[in-house]
Amino acid sequence: MTEHYDLLILGGGSGGIATANRAALHGARCALIEKSALGGACVNVGCVPKKLLWNAAHLRHCAELATDYGFAPLLGDFDWAANKHARDTYIGKLNERYATGLADNGVTVIAGHGRFADPHTIEVAGTRYEADHIVLATGSRPIRPDIPGAALGLTSDDFFALAEQPRRLAVVGAGYIAVELACVLRRLGSQVSLVMRGAHLLATFDPMLREGLMDSMTHAGVNLLAHRQVSGLRKAGTELTLLYEDGEGLCGLDSVIWAVGRAPNTDALDLDKTGIALGRGGIIETDSYQNTAVPGIYAIGDLTGRAALTPVAIAAGRRLADRLFGGQKDRHLDYDLIPTVVFSHPPIGSVGLSEPEARERHGNEAVTVYRTRFTPMSHAFNRSPPRTAMKLVTVGHEERVVGLHIIGEGADEMLQGFAVAIKMGATKKDLDDTLAIHPTSAEEVVTMR
Ligand code: FAD
Ligand code: NDP
Repeated sequence: MTEHYDLLILGGGSGGIATANRAALHGARCALIEKSALGGACVNVGCVPKKLLWNAAHLRHCAELATDYGFAPLLGDFDWAANKHARDTYIGKLNERYATGLADNGVTVIAGHGRFADPHTIEVAGTRYEADHIVLATGSRPIRPDIPGAALGLTSDDFFALAEQPRRLAVVGAGYIAVELACVLRRLGSQVSLVMRGAHLLATFDPMLREGLMDSMTHAGVNLLAHRQVSGLRKAGTELTLLYEDGEGLCGLDSVIWAVGRAPNTDALDLDKTGIALGRGGIIETDSYQNTAVPGIYAIGDLTGRAALTPVAIAAGRRLADRLFGGQKDRHLDYDLIPTVVFSHPPIGSVGLSEPEARERHGNEAVTVYRTRFTPMSHAFNRSPPRTAMKLVTVGHEERVVGLHIIGEGADEMLQGFAVAIKMGATKKDLDDTLAIHPTSAEEVVTMR
């Protein structure tokens, strides 16, 4: 017999779990289908293990700084295995917490790979489940380049499973993951080359952030290699050599990490049984209410190809549940002004338009930009201190803030509150009228000239 639900959710990651819990709280009868560990990419092979490693690298940095403040050297060696054990234990607890939360809310969790049997029915290992509404939240997976020897390299998923720290490695890519993994491994003592095909890291970010980050990474000892088209990976004994199209290469590596983007998990869902056609790169296109082209089927999160961030998947799912089961007919996610942090060293915080984007959208005349650069006070005793840089992008006579970009210590924690103000329509004058908190780095945001 086919079991019937109000809502079936395919994928128990950030978006799927949030949707299920919210819908269940509205009284919907829900089942969530997950083929792997609850929590998805974020918990198991993304934000969480990444941030735990970032914390380790940050602690090393603080311990180094402590000697400037009069402490005797504090550091021992970094024990990768102990850190890995602690990470795995913490993630195991999160997996359990998600299972308990779903059970407490009355959500049925079905373990296994789900695929469509028809537009209202999902099949898992031969059992069929039917629902009035189906939410697709199957996320994305890391890709490898289509070149000889690519299987010799690691994806970010493989990286988090490593039992030993890579010592001499290359990271290929120039996006979030390439930057974060290169920075963290360098801070933890590895020799790191970052190999990019273009001239810049983080191509879509404000140039001030890109340039500041490249300076910081170079200063930290990351070997930045621009304009390198990778054509293959070769292994001799235990040594890897990364090959470039121009015949040159990078040898003596123990690991290569591919960070060249992710693909949506939409190819094994039997979508042909629904009438949903895939968009560019295999994504599922949705309107601003997360509706797909087929009534009763919705998509949220990474597989929609829009702002692949955990809070975005969560917010899209919760709002959809509010709309479908909470009587909030117009509830939907506004994809404008999404704040984001790159957990580099130092971190980057960015919300809204970059300066070039603002000039293109609003015209040069309408845009006024404020900048500052300073040494954070925590580095007061440092002989070659890192600098913090900030940029405020405003438009119109009223100087409405349309972008805020920060690179420097604390940028990750600084941005959230300012993102609220910017989302509410803050102007430069609103910032000027806000009293500074002294002495902090954040005060510079409200004192820029
Ligand atoms: P996921 O969380 O990936 O969940 C999808 C789930 O669907 C998975 O559990 C998968 O097993 C399951 N699934 C797939 N197909 C099926 C099927 N057919 N049947 C059953 N189950 C299926 N975002 C941030 O906001 N901040 C960060 O710091 C951050 N760091 C990141 C670091 C890394 C290394 C990576 C890879 C990502 C990071 N992200 C970060 C992005 C974030 O992890 C994703 O945007 C988020 O997890 C997307 O949520 P989702 O629900 O769309 O997919
Ligand atoms: P990104 O889309 O950020 O970056 C992909 C990178 O791969 C680009 O820099 C691109 O280079 C490069 N690339 C693509 N193909 C090749 C190739 N053949 N050779 C060399 N380089 C190549 O993807 P990520 O995988 O880094 O991250 C996926 C998403 O996950 C992010 O966009 C983000 O939304 C999310 N994420 C968020 C984090 C956070 O919030 N802190 C952390 C990690 C991930 P080019 O620039 O030249 O096009």
